[in-house]
Amino acid sequence: MTHKLLVANRGEIAVRIIRACQELGIRTVAIYSVADENSLHVKMADEAICIGSSLSGDSYLNLNRVVSAAVATGASIVHPGYGFLAENPRFAHMLEKCDITFVGPKADTLAFVGDKIAAKNWVKGLRIPVVDGSDGPIDHAASGIEIARKIGYPVLLKAVDGGGGKGIAVAESDAELISAFSRMQLEAKASFGTDSLYLETYIPRARHVEVQVMCDHSGNIVHFTERDCSMQRHNQKVIEESPSPVMNPLLRRNLALAAVRICRSLNYRGAGTIEFLLDQEQKYFFLEMNARIQVEHPVTEMATGVDLVKEQILIALGEALSIKQYQIKTKGHTIECRVNAEDVFHDFMPCPGTIHNVVMPGGPGVRIDSHIFNGYVVPSFYDSLLAKLIVHAPTRLEAIRKMRVALAGFIIDGIKTNIDFLYVMMHNPTFIKGQYDTTFVMKAIREELDGELYR
Ligand code: ADP
Ligand code: ADP
Ligand code: MG
Repeated sequence: MTHKLLVANRGEIAVRIIRACQELGIRTVAIYSVADENSLHVKMADEAICIGSSLSGDSYLNLNRVVSAAVATGASIVHPGYGFLAENPRFAHMLEKCDITFVGPKADTLAFVGDKIAAKNWVKGLRIPVVDGSDGPIDHAASGIEIARKIGYPVLLKAVDGGGGKGIAVAESDAELISAFSRMQLEAKASFGTDSLYLETYIPRARHVEVQVMCDHSGNIVHFTERDCSMQRHNQKVIEESPSPVMNPLLRRNLALAAVRICRSLNYRGAGTIEFLLDQEQKYFFLEMNARIQVEHPVTEMATGVDLVKEQILIALGEALSIKQYQIKTKGHTIECRVNAEDVFHDFMPCPGTIHNVVMPGGPGVRIDSHIFNGYVVPSFYDSLLAKLIVHAPTRLEAIRKMRVALAGFIIDGIKTNIDFLYVMMHNPTFIKGQYDTTFVMKAIREELDGELYR
């Protein structure tokens, strides 16, 4: 049977998925908004269908329109990418009802894992350490204060349905909690459609380390070497690497075992990522599970040679995992930089506009996942991600040197990007020593603004 896959996404991930389908001999359908009419994913797909105006709510986030597009084009399978509807259980459920295969876990699993409180309580039940906090949503700042006093300040207020680093605020005192509460409720409502919040102990100077997993229908589960994603701005990753510079064999094994146990207990299917935080004593805590392909999946692909997107699609079509655990060998060191259209010195404000000229780096061990080209207009409606630049080399230092050369040869004219910032980070002593934590990038920027770091 020949399959037709609809890509329910845009940008670099839509391009990535279409390439995987082309290699698998699967026909593709692109969906696009008015703003994306001239996008690469639209040009690359076998068919393309406009689903609405530029606002995400009228297009990529609009359940009915995306499902209708799948039905109208006769797609038998839908890949949601990341963001947008990727973790929306209603979307998965609607597709199930239309007899269209969703590339991802079952709708019920999505609903369960996507509820950050339910997921944490579940994992706690498996006797895996979780970050302390409220075991249900908090309705008023007052009940938040009660819990915060019990677990101790500083605390984090987080949106139950949050993602992409949005809907998270630190509070150091009762007063801060009160003001953060209404602010986060508004932000959560605007970003995720619900204003449900919960509370968590803030782990100071944490490291974010995550484990990629892949599971098939027959209960086979494989895990991959961790990715360290502690280089973050506004709680969103900008540089990721694997292996983590702070890992040791015992901790690595414990994280992998915990990840596999979580998947097994959920009867999980498809690609997933279990995110952990490490405190300064290297104690690990489950943070959340992302039930989808992740932005930084190429890090794992470069390190192991496994094509995670093709694997995802084949599993969704009912095939068994093509790899066994013992066949997964992590080689050398991999680093990914997210190249964004943003103004680093104005709080990473997105900077859309027209790209007049692009020159991309290349050479051995260099990979670029991107949708940009000469003349491409970066729309203001979506994520600011322009490209992911990934390098692979035998050692960490060689990977850093390769990344420096690649960034120096990456030219994007016409709009502001964070390329120079990434280049500077590749020379930063704290980064080179691997001693950064999740607060490091914001601190480095503040110091740069004060003119202390370099110039
Ligand atoms: P990853 O966990 O794969 O590193 P990010 O957290 O950087 O991904 O988010 C990737 C993209 O997905 C961003 O565009 C982000 O805004 C979006 N995103 C992630 N989770 C959600 C969510 N729950 N709701 C809306 N958008 C989300
Ligand atoms: P999202 O769904 O937006 O990815 P996460 O819960 O994964 O949200 O958190 C995103 C980031 O926020 C983490 O990688 C970390 O840097 C920071 N963070 C989240 N929870 C905590 C915590 N309890 N203590 C310290 N930092 C945290
Ligand atoms: Mg996360």
